Amino acid sequence: MRAAIFHEHGGPEVVRIEEVPAPDPGPDEVRVRVRASALNHLDLWVRRGLPIETTMPHVGGSDVAGVVEAVGDRAEGVAVGDRVVVNPSLSCGRCEWCAAGEVPLCPEYRILGEHTNGGFAEYVAVPAANVYRIPDSFSFKAAAALPVSYMTAWRALVTRARVRAGEDVLVLGASGGTAAAAVQVARLAGARVFAVTRGAENVARVRALGAHVVYDRDEVDFSRQVFHDTGKRGVDVVVENVGEATWKGSVRALARGGRLVCYGATTGPRGEIDLRVLFWKQVEIIGTTMASRPEFEAMLRAAFRGDLVPVIDSVLPLERAREAHERLEAGGQFGKIVLVP
Ligand code: ZN
Repeated sequence: MRAAIFHEHGGPEVVRIEEVPAPDPGPDEVRVRVRASALNHLDLWVRRGLPIETTMPHVGGSDVAGVVEAVGDRAEGVAVGDRVVVNPSLSCGRCEWCAAGEVPLCPEYRILGEHTNGGFAEYVAVPAANVYRIPDSFSFKAAAALPVSYMTAWRALVTRARVRAGEDVLVLGASGGTAAAAVQVARLAGARVFAVTRGAENVARVRALGAHVVYDRDEVDFSRQVFHDTGKRGVDVVVENVGEATWKGSVRALARGGRLVCYGATTGPRGEIDLRVLFWKQVEIIGTTMASRPEFEAMLRAAFRGDLVPVIDSVLPLERAREAHERLEAGGQFGKIVLVP
């Protein structure tokens, strides 16, 4: 099969298209013929080289949708020909966190396409328990745009930040795939959504996603402006993934008792907080990543109902995987970049 593969860490130029053996499904696995896969920032980090154990040579791709083509002997509840989307969460299934359903806290938590070979290929083998049927009316491209971004946004807002109807939510970096998902999830939860992005075009697009108020980071000091626009109160929830470049403003934007939930640090990993602000304003700093199985399923149901609409920036043939890496790295995209083998 053809795969977008790299043999060493580095820039987008290490990504090549090669012919490799198609994976055989294990007894509890299925082989999926990939119809669409989507990029995440995770793919860039893995390509550059993270201090994690990964397969090498490596095929990235955590977001996969396709058709089940072969089923392992012990695999249940799935049949050849099923149109499916893949939950990229892999865990040990034995530890106290797995037993409690808190899969992303498993010490052996791994992500398809990060720690293992993923879906930037014609075929991928995944646990049968990780595939979910998608409705006929739902396209493979739309399904591939869902998993990592929407499961992360769902857990961040619904479970971790405990967002409630009527609350004010501020989403940073709202043109990114997961942040765009966060705008939709916050809106669906009944929040008033403030968002920060860059450039007039993105401001209009984020508004179209459902954000009530959108700030252009180059035009205004968003933390000052959101303070003003909330009657000098601040917001109940801030959704952070930008990191160093916006952290200070994000902390400043919090109302008393507010929650800052963080799932990424694109511009750098260091963030300071004045501990007097932490205890006097009684704010919470909350980390989050990926999602549990019930959260993934709740997210899928909302998407299949039409309550969440995946945002697709562009669709490229698998052969242009390197270009897809370059586009995501440049940061000018809006929503998900999808590859089609
Ligand atoms: Zn576990």
